Amino acid sequence: MAITEVIRQKAAKRIIGHIQGKVQGPTMVFFGGIHGNEPSGVEALQEVFKEFETHSISVKGSMYGILGNMPALFQKQRFLARDLNRLWTKPEIERIQTLAKDQKTPEDEELLELLELLNTILENETGPFYFIDFHTTSSRTLPFITINDAMINRKFAKLFPVPIILGIEEYLEGPLLSYINTKGYLSLGFESGQHFTEEARINTVAFIWLSLQYSGFLKEAHVANEVDHYAQLQSAARHNRNFYEVIERYALEPEDKFSMKPGFESFGKIEKNTLLASHNGNTVHASQSGILFMPLYQTLGGEGFFIVRLIPKSILRISAYVRKIKADRLLTLLPGVSWADASKERLMVNLKVARFFSKAFFHLMGFRNRVVDKTHILMNNREKTAKNEMYEDSTWY
Ligand SMILES: [Zn+2]
Repeated sequence: MAITEVIRQKAAKRIIGHIQGKVQGPTMVFFGGIHGNEPSGVEALQEVFKEFETHSISVKGSMYGILGNMPALFQKQRFLARDLNRLWTKPEIERIQTLAKDQKTPEDEELLELLELLNTILENETGPFYFIDFHTTSSRTLPFITINDAMINRKFAKLFPVPIILGIEEYLEGPLLSYINTKGYLSLGFESGQHFTEEARINTVAFIWLSLQYSGFLKEAHVANEVDHYAQLQSAARHNRNFYEVIERYALEPEDKFSMKPGFESFGKIEKNTLLASHNGNTVHASQSGILFMPLYQTLGGEGFFIVRLIPKSILRISAYVRKIKADRLLTLLPGVSWADASKERLMVNLKVARFFSKAFFHLMGFRNRVVDKTHILMNNREKTAKNEMYEDSTWY
């Protein structure tokens, strides 16, 4: 059965739009509304698909717009029972798959439907695949990109004139994009602005057109308004296209009472000891100086705020180089560092022995941390899983 038919039958309501070009090319997969109180991505996708309906635009490859948490979108809530963007770990997916119908939360059902759709697309399309997930934030913010730091993600993200945040997935359990990354595909999150704002929708529209162009989905002749979209993002981001890494996550429990002091926004500088919030009746002061990121101004959410810091350009260049020459092969010569298994994709680091190596050092080499216990960290090599060869012929690679 043709994929168009499968999509039409199985997921008519979940598909915002689907375009199948006659010529082979990239597969663009956009998600909107994984969080139900963030409809800007959905509206932007609707707008772009309308443009395709009313104008003749020639394309290569295919494009999908997919709704995330449908019942939550309907109620304009982040989620109903569980955060749909924190369920995408292998064990959790397997657990949900074994649940009886009456045991499933609305988000469990949403996950299973999305997973089936995702698998259908991956089985029927040839790629290269681009997965882009649209979000907004509760505070005011510059638009920004979040990525897992694989070189394919970094190279593609760099094309957009907005700041880029690396490594947030190490602090979050089970975001959708981490799941897609473990499959090796290019994926990035775009946070377009504050919830329900006009600017967030406009920035997302600009982002969609630019990504369609950069991936090669649009043929040359149809990029006449590229400059406008680029300028829109550039000015919304105030010409900030730096890279940042997350250095702190202020975690919250579901029952916690957390309230951010008014007036903070993402990318604002903070000094150590700045009064930031109140948490279960106690005051919260910044534990270090840095750049505040995603302060929480809504009731639902697992993080009160993050602190990020700028990554110097020289570090970015060095890290691209060490990955190119695959210097990670030498790491096992270091005391306290060994391969976790025969596949040589993961390192086991014994912190008692290798404590002189910082997390930042392993980041540089392309590894993602996961704490196993007090003395061991498991390091996943992002470059080993990334399907780099799929993207080799792309103009941006
Ligand atoms: Zn979100």
